[in-house]
Amino acid sequence: MLNGLVKWARGKSPWVCHLNCGSCNGCDIEIVAALMPRFDLERFGVLLEGSPRHADVVMATGPVTRQIRDRVVRVYEQVAEPKFVVAVGTCAVSGAPFYPGYNVLGGVDAAMPVNMYVPGCPARPDAIAYGVLKLLATLDPQAEALVKEIEATQDTTGLVYTPEDIDEMRGDTETSLGQSPARGDRSGQS
Ligand code: SF4
Repeated sequence: MLNGLVKWARGKSPWVCHLNCGSCNGCDIEIVAALMPRFDLERFGVLLEGSPRHADVVMATGPVTRQIRDRVVRVYEQVAEPKFVVAVGTCAVSGAPFYPGYNVLGGVDAAMPVNMYVPGCPARPDAIAYGVLKLLATLDPQAEALVKEIEATQDTTGLVYTPEDIDEMRGDTETSLGQSPARGDRSGQS
């Protein structure tokens, strides 16, 4: 009963914590654009929240540097379960073009498990909104219906990727570059 209530509340009004891991600020501005009236993520109850302790979703931008990695892990651990992480922008998806630089560990999943990847440099606000909606669709039937409607009427190819898509794309190429310890581990342990 309580779990059902929590799931309903999260589906209706997920609180989002924005985390800049080392981005150039381009994707951060696009997150703001996704929340503003034109794309209006707030109409789905999404609320920007300053503290990770009060958030359900972490929207992370930028590559994970050696300097920021431990802070990213700490922020992730402060978010209550069940939690989602959205990697916003190509830097956050893969660390590119900075990975494998000496000070860059990779994308956001070098420090915490990611549930949805939104590529682009910068990521498009409509893609960010679509990625969040796809996550909500796992909790809320109304969001699921909306996602189905969007996918039936628009070409959404390449707008967002699931962890399974990313694993498939990385394949052997990633292994040959050398994976950071957290990659592929979606349990939150690093
Ligand atoms: S993906 Fe591009 S716009 Fe976004 S943080 Fe990286 S460099 Fe900046």
